[in-house]
Amino acid sequence: MKYEAVGRAIFPRISNSRMVEFVTRFSAFNNRYYNGPTGLESSNWLVSQIQDSITQSKYPGNATVRTFRHTWVQNSVICRLQGSQPGLIILGAHLDSLNGALGATGRAPGADDNASGSVAILEALRVLLETGFVPTISVEFQWYAAEEQGLRGSGDIAQDYYNKGEDVMSMMNFDVVGYNTGITKVAFAIDNTDSGFTQFLRLVVDAYLDYGWMNFSCGYACSDHASWTKFRYPSAFPAEAKFFPDMHTVRDTIDNVDFNQVREFVKLAVGYVVELGEPASL
Ligand code: ZN
Repeated sequence: MKYEAVGRAIFPRISNSRMVEFVTRFSAFNNRYYNGPTGLESSNWLVSQIQDSITQSKYPGNATVRTFRHTWVQNSVICRLQGSQPGLIILGAHLDSLNGALGATGRAPGADDNASGSVAILEALRVLLETGFVPTISVEFQWYAAEEQGLRGSGDIAQDYYNKGEDVMSMMNFDVVGYNTGITKVAFAIDNTDSGFTQFLRLVVDAYLDYGWMNFSCGYACSDHASWTKFRYPSAFPAEAKFFPDMHTVRDTIDNVDFNQVREFVKLAVGYVVELGEPASL
């Protein structure tokens, strides 16, 4: 692909230990429930992690982080790398977690669902900041509140961007990327997604990853990509090949997350940003 050398040169900066540290702390909140105190604390902590990364990287471009407020307690979080040309490409992952049986107070570590996706886009952001990657097309990293409540956080943001006439060129959603049963493939949802954009990401996998790819169907609007599809923005949903069977329980813990697999998704995120964001300098 066009910027493969640029993308591959960034890969050695990807740190599994930094991702382990993040998931350890993110899954230590009692839960990240959308309408409770630890739901808010976890999103505030994420903001501080991003702000620290921007500050410490001495990023040569324009990087900003903000919260997106909703009608409930937990905020969504958006970090933007400003480009010089019109258009916007998005990477998204939901930050909330849920104990399906116990709700607001139940323990929900949400390590695979979805600290794994959250850390994958965060780590991609961090290595891009460290490299001093300034895009031509603006790039946003978005962490959504309240996915587990019917895609409500991403739904609010997609609606807001649609109302403002934002030129969203593509949205890639990471939700559950860490569970590994030995299938070394990225699984692409073929429903509620854009076939052309998905096909482009298969080519990114072929060019950049050690993993291969496969297809699957959710059968319904199963995660935040569907919020963007609803407004006719091209979206894609690459995920772990077999979903973790104990999601939404106390058993969704870090020992079920394979960080070498998460690393493959970080590479997919970096490849996506480099190829569609296009380096303005390096
Ligand atoms: Zn999820």
